[in-house]
Amino acid sequence: MSKVAIVTGASRGIGREIAKELAKKGIMVIANYFNSEKKAKELQEELKNEGINIDIFKADVSKKEECKKIVEYTIKKYKKIDILINNAGVDKVQLITETTKEDWDYMINTNLYSAFAMCQEALPYMIHEKNGCIINISSIWGITGASTEVLYSITKAGLDGLTKALAKEVGPSNIRVNSIAPGYIETDMNKNYTKEEKEEMKNEIPLERLGMPVDIAKCINWLIEDNYTTGQVISINGGWLI
Ligand code: NAP
Repeated sequence: MSKVAIVTGASRGIGREIAKELAKKGIMVIANYFNSEKKAKELQEELKNEGINIDIFKADVSKKEECKKIVEYTIKKYKKIDILINNAGVDKVQLITETTKEDWDYMINTNLYSAFAMCQEALPYMIHEKNGCIINISSIWGITGASTEVLYSITKAGLDGLTKALAKEVGPSNIRVNSIAPGYIETDMNKNYTKEEKEEMKNEIPLERLGMPVDIAKCINWLIEDNYTTGQVISINGGWLI
């Protein structure tokens, strides 16, 4: 039976590309979306035209009961979860002095609690199989910190903490947990950057180009094939942060 993967936030950007890459490898993908139903359906249709089936599932992963629903749906239909990619995330640029408790709750729940809750729900099944691969999509800013993105940086540093601690806890069950920390990747999340700002960023990157979602998907591909990497934060940023 083929491997089964849940990818959160797979309707757009990085998650969408990860879902495509895994599905093209013959993995059964459950592509989670929240607001972008049309885009999720388009992705499903696009792959269907290539003879590839994926499942799509609407859920707000910032809520524990919705994480439970994705996992229960997956287990009922496919009997197991081999791979969990915690990718769903949001960003907000703001000064710390302008950040509200509502912003805190929204960002922490969407970027960090979602991954914690998805792990809580999926792990009993992975532990039962003594097999699993969990990948959290964190960020360069969780490592080095971003001015005016304090809250975002906190959530991403938190994800890396989750990765390291959980890798130790579930390693004996043959479950690997890693973070991928992208640098700048061309997606909707960065749509507010001007051409000039992007050019400036490009000049700071040794590989002299901005990242694309496929650059992250390729690393996911490697990481799910690997057997001996766990508890790591893997930076994919064209050398922007060395
Ligand atoms: P994006 O294009 O804005 O896509 C975000 C995805 O997250 C969408 O599919 C969205 O789904 C989903 N999402 C948001 N809130 C959700 C919720 N409550 N429940 C379920 N899904 C939710 O962003 P992206 O650039 O691809 O980012 C993907 C991940 O990479 C994020 O964790 C981000 O922090 C991280 N990252 C991005 C960059 C970058 O430069 N782009 C750099 C470092 C890290 P709907 O549209 O269906 O609601």
